[in-house]
Amino acid sequence: MFGFFRRRRRRRLRAAPPPATWSEILARNAPFVAGLDAADRARLDGDLQVFVAEKHFIAAGGMAITDEVKVTIAAAAARLVVHLGIERYDDLTEIIVYPSAYRHAGADGAILGEAHAWGVVVLAWDAVVAGLRNPRDGHDTAVHEFAHVLDRADGSFDGAPELHAGAHYRPWATVMQRSFDRLRGRDAQLRKVLRDYGATNEAEFFAVATEAYFERPDDLRRRAPSLFDELERFYRPQP
Ligand SMILES: [Zn+2]
Repeated sequence: MFGFFRRRRRRRLRAAPPPATWSEILARNAPFVAGLDAADRARLDGDLQVFVAEKHFIAAGGMAITDEVKVTIAAAAARLVVHLGIERYDDLTEIIVYPSAYRHAGADGAILGEAHAWGVVVLAWDAVVAGLRNPRDGHDTAVHEFAHVLDRADGSFDGAPELHAGAHYRPWATVMQRSFDRLRGRDAQLRKVLRDYGATNEAEFFAVATEAYFERPDDLRRRAPSLFDELERFYRPQP
Protein backbone atom coordinates (compact mmCIF):
# COMPACT_ATOMS: atom_id res chain seq x y z
CA MET A 1 0.00 0.00 0.00
CA PHE A 2 2.79 2.38 0.88
CA GLY A 3 4.16 1.95 -2.63
CA PHE A 4 0.79 2.79 -4.14
CA PHE A 5 0.34 5.99 -2.11
CA ARG A 6 3.90 7.02 -2.77
CA ARG A 7 3.53 6.52 -6.51
CA ARG A 8 0.32 8.53 -6.54
CA ARG A 9 1.87 11.36 -4.51
CA ARG A 10 4.88 11.41 -6.81
CA ARG A 11 2.69 11.61 -9.90
CA ARG A 12 0.94 14.61 -8.36
CA LEU A 13 4.22 16.28 -7.48
CA ARG A 14 5.56 15.77 -11.02
CA ALA A 15 2.37 17.04 -12.64
CA ALA A 16 2.51 20.45 -10.94
CA PRO A 17 4.68 23.08 -12.62
CA PRO A 18 7.84 23.78 -10.58
CA PRO A 19 7.85 27.11 -8.68
CA ALA A 20 8.94 29.96 -10.98
CA THR A 21 11.92 30.85 -8.76
CA TRP A 22 13.52 27.44 -9.26
CA SER A 23 14.75 27.97 -12.80
CA GLU A 24 16.64 31.06 -11.67
CA ILE A 25 18.26 29.07 -8.86
CA LEU A 26 19.23 26.34 -11.31
CA ALA A 27 20.65 28.81 -13.81
CA ARG A 28 22.84 30.32 -11.10
CA ASN A 29 23.96 27.22 -9.20
CA ALA A 30 23.58 24.25 -11.54
CA PRO A 31 24.86 25.13 -15.03
CA PHE A 32 24.73 21.47 -16.11
CA VAL A 33 20.94 21.84 -16.34
CA ALA A 34 21.32 24.11 -19.37
CA GLY A 35 22.86 21.18 -21.27
CA LEU A 36 19.89 18.84 -20.83
CA ASP A 37 17.51 18.21 -23.71
CA ALA A 38 13.78 18.88 -23.23
CA ALA A 39 12.88 15.33 -22.17
CA ASP A 40 15.70 15.12 -19.61
CA ARG A 41 14.87 18.61 -18.32
CA ALA A 42 11.22 17.65 -17.80
CA ARG A 43 12.26 14.50 -15.93
CA LEU A 44 14.73 16.52 -13.83
CA ASP A 45 12.07 19.10 -12.92
CA GLY A 46 9.82 16.29 -11.67
CA ASP A 47 12.70 14.64 -9.80
CA LEU A 48 13.51 17.92 -8.05
CA GLN A 49 9.93 18.28 -6.84
CA VAL A 50 9.87 14.73 -5.51
CA PHE A 51 13.26 15.10 -3.83
CA VAL A 52 12.51 18.49 -2.24
CA ALA A 53 9.12 17.30 -0.96
CA GLU A 54 10.29 13.96 0.44
CA LYS A 55 13.73 14.53 1.98
CA HIS A 56 14.23 16.21 5.33
CA PHE A 57 16.74 19.05 5.12
CA ILE A 58 18.29 19.80 8.49
CA ALA A 59 20.35 22.91 9.25
CA ALA A 60 23.58 22.61 11.24
CA GLY A 61 26.27 25.02 12.36
CA GLY A 62 24.14 28.13 11.88
CA MET A 63 23.00 27.23 8.36
CA ALA A 64 19.58 28.40 7.15
CA ILE A 65 17.65 26.01 4.91
CA THR A 66 16.13 28.03 2.05
CA ASP A 67 14.53 27.03 -1.23
CA GLU A 68 17.88 27.74 -2.87
CA VAL A 69 19.61 25.21 -0.59
CA LYS A 70 16.99 22.53 -1.19
CA VAL A 71 16.73 22.98 -4.95
CA THR A 72 20.50 23.17 -5.47
CA ILE A 73 21.18 20.01 -3.45
CA ALA A 74 18.26 18.25 -5.13
CA ALA A 75 19.76 19.20 -8.51
CA ALA A 76 23.13 17.73 -7.55
CA ALA A 77 21.41 14.49 -6.54
CA ALA A 78 19.13 14.37 -9.57
CA ARG A 79 22.04 14.94 -11.95
CA LEU A 80 23.31 11.41 -11.27
CA VAL A 81 19.96 9.72 -11.82
CA VAL A 82 18.46 11.58 -14.80
CA HIS A 83 18.61 8.24 -16.62
CA LEU A 84 18.27 5.98 -13.57
CA GLY A 85 15.25 7.27 -11.65
CA ILE A 86 14.95 9.31 -8.45
CA GLU A 87 13.78 6.18 -6.58
CA ARG A 88 17.45 5.23 -6.39
CA TYR A 89 17.45 7.59 -3.38
CA ASP A 90 14.47 6.06 -1.60
CA ASP A 91 16.60 4.96 1.37
CA LEU A 92 17.96 8.47 1.83
CA THR A 93 15.83 10.35 4.35
CA GLU A 94 17.88 13.26 5.74
CA ILE A 95 20.29 15.80 4.41
CA ILE A 96 22.20 17.75 7.02
CA VAL A 97 23.69 21.00 5.70
CA TYR A 98 26.52 23.00 7.26
CA PRO A 99 27.45 26.45 5.89
CA SER A 100 31.04 25.33 5.21
CA ALA A 101 33.62 22.68 6.07
CA TYR A 102 33.02 21.25 9.53
CA ARG A 103 34.88 19.11 12.05
CA HIS A 104 34.12 16.03 14.12
CA ALA A 105 35.60 15.11 17.45
CA GLY A 106 37.98 12.28 16.67
CA ALA A 107 38.32 12.96 12.92
CA ASP A 108 41.32 14.55 11.26
CA GLY A 109 40.82 17.81 9.45
CA ALA A 110 37.82 19.61 8.02
CA ILE A 111 35.07 17.63 6.29
CA LEU A 112 33.15 18.67 3.15
CA GLY A 113 30.62 15.86 3.08
CA GLU A 114 29.67 12.38 4.25
CA ALA A 115 27.17 9.68 3.37
CA HIS A 116 26.01 7.35 6.14
CA ALA A 117 24.61 3.84 5.91
CA TRP A 118 21.52 4.90 7.90
CA GLY A 119 20.21 7.14 5.11
CA VAL A 120 21.82 10.47 5.96
CA VAL A 121 24.02 12.69 3.81
CA VAL A 122 25.97 15.56 5.37
CA LEU A 123 27.14 18.41 3.13
CA ALA A 124 29.03 21.69 3.41
CA TRP A 125 26.94 24.20 1.47
CA ASP A 126 29.85 26.22 0.10
CA ALA A 127 31.46 23.04 -1.25
CA VAL A 128 28.19 21.99 -2.91
CA VAL A 129 27.91 25.35 -4.67
CA ALA A 130 31.57 25.49 -5.69
CA GLY A 131 31.36 21.95 -7.09
CA LEU A 132 28.25 22.60 -9.15
CA ARG A 133 29.26 26.01 -10.42
CA ASN A 134 32.54 24.62 -11.74
CA PRO A 135 31.22 21.67 -13.69
CA ARG A 136 34.55 20.88 -15.35
CA ASP A 137 37.12 20.82 -12.54
CA GLY A 138 36.67 17.12 -11.71
CA HIS A 139 35.77 17.81 -8.07
CA ASP A 140 32.17 17.89 -6.89
CA THR A 141 31.38 17.20 -3.24
CA ALA A 142 27.66 16.61 -3.72
CA VAL A 143 28.12 14.32 -6.73
CA HIS A 144 30.68 12.40 -4.67
CA GLU A 145 28.36 11.91 -1.68
CA PHE A 146 25.33 11.04 -3.78
CA ALA A 147 27.44 8.45 -5.62
CA HIS A 148 28.01 6.84 -2.20
CA VAL A 149 24.24 6.78 -1.69
CA LEU A 150 23.76 4.96 -5.02
CA ASP A 151 26.51 2.54 -4.04
CA ARG A 152 24.90 1.91 -0.64
CA ALA A 153 21.38 1.42 -2.01
CA ASP A 154 22.02 -2.26 -2.78
CA GLY A 155 23.23 -3.00 0.74
CA SER A 156 26.85 -1.97 1.23
CA PHE A 157 29.48 0.66 0.48
CA ASP A 158 31.55 -1.54 -1.81
CA GLY A 159 31.97 0.45 -5.00
CA ALA A 160 29.22 -1.44 -6.87
CA PRO A 161 25.75 0.09 -7.18
CA GLU A 162 22.84 -1.99 -8.45
CA LEU A 163 23.64 -2.46 -12.14
CA HIS A 164 21.07 -2.78 -14.92
CA ALA A 165 21.60 -6.45 -15.72
CA GLY A 166 23.16 -9.47 -14.08
CA ALA A 167 25.62 -9.78 -16.94
CA HIS A 168 27.05 -6.34 -16.14
CA TYR A 169 28.52 -7.27 -12.75
CA ARG A 170 31.49 -9.31 -13.90
CA PRO A 171 32.88 -6.76 -16.39
CA TRP A 172 32.18 -4.00 -13.85
CA ALA A 173 34.13 -5.79 -11.13
CA THR A 174 37.02 -6.58 -13.47
CA VAL A 175 37.37 -3.03 -14.78
CA MET A 176 36.88 -1.37 -11.37
CA GLN A 177 39.45 -3.64 -9.73
CA ARG A 178 42.00 -3.10 -12.49
CA SER A 179 41.50 0.67 -12.46
CA PHE A 180 41.59 0.84 -8.66
CA ASP A 181 44.87 -1.10 -8.65
CA ARG A 182 46.29 1.27 -11.27
CA LEU A 183 45.40 4.30 -9.15
CA ARG A 184 46.88 2.66 -6.05
CA GLY A 185 49.99 2.02 -8.10
CA ARG A 186 50.08 5.76 -8.88
CA ASP A 187 49.50 5.28 -12.61
CA ALA A 188 50.36 8.61 -14.26
CA GLN A 189 47.53 8.57 -16.83
CA LEU A 190 44.84 7.80 -14.30
CA ARG A 191 46.13 10.34 -11.78
CA LYS A 192 45.57 13.06 -14.37
CA VAL A 193 41.83 12.50 -14.22
CA LEU A 194 41.13 10.78 -10.86
CA ARG A 195 41.94 12.31 -7.49
CA ASP A 196 44.35 10.26 -5.35
CA TYR A 197 41.62 10.03 -2.73
CA GLY A 198 40.02 7.40 -4.98
CA ALA A 199 42.81 5.00 -3.97
CA THR A 200 41.47 4.94 -0.37
CA ASN A 201 39.15 1.96 -0.97
CA GLU A 202 36.67 0.60 -3.55
CA ALA A 203 33.81 2.83 -2.36
CA GLU A 204 35.90 6.01 -2.63
CA PHE A 205 37.16 4.85 -6.01
CA PHE A 206 33.60 4.66 -7.34
CA ALA A 207 32.70 8.08 -5.88
CA VAL A 208 35.84 9.76 -7.28
CA ALA A 209 35.38 8.05 -10.67
CA THR A 210 31.77 9.32 -10.71
CA GLU A 211 33.01 12.89 -10.18
CA ALA A 212 35.35 12.46 -13.15
CA TYR A 213 32.61 10.89 -15.28
CA PHE A 214 30.30 13.87 -14.80
CA GLU A 215 32.89 16.63 -14.71
CA ARG A 216 35.68 15.50 -17.06
CA PRO A 217 34.11 12.87 -19.32
CA ASP A 218 36.43 13.52 -22.29
CA ASP A 219 39.58 13.18 -20.17
CA LEU A 220 38.22 10.05 -18.55
CA ARG A 221 37.32 8.49 -21.89
CA ARG A 222 40.79 9.19 -23.25
CA ARG A 223 42.82 8.07 -20.23
CA ALA A 224 40.69 5.19 -19.00
CA PRO A 225 38.33 4.08 -21.79
CA SER A 226 37.16 0.83 -20.21
CA LEU A 227 36.41 2.59 -16.91
CA PHE A 228 34.52 5.28 -18.82
CA ASP A 229 32.51 2.61 -20.67
CA GLU A 230 31.44 0.86 -17.47
CA LEU A 231 30.36 4.13 -15.87
CA GLU A 232 28.49 5.12 -19.01
CA ARG A 233 26.70 1.79 -19.11
CA PHE A 234 25.54 2.44 -15.54
CA TYR A 235 24.74 6.19 -15.64
CA ARG A 236 23.79 6.01 -19.33
CA PRO A 237 25.13 8.58 -21.79
CA GLN A 238 25.09 12.17 -20.51
CA PRO A 239 24.77 15.29 -22.67
ZN1 LIG B 1 33.73 9.56 -0.15
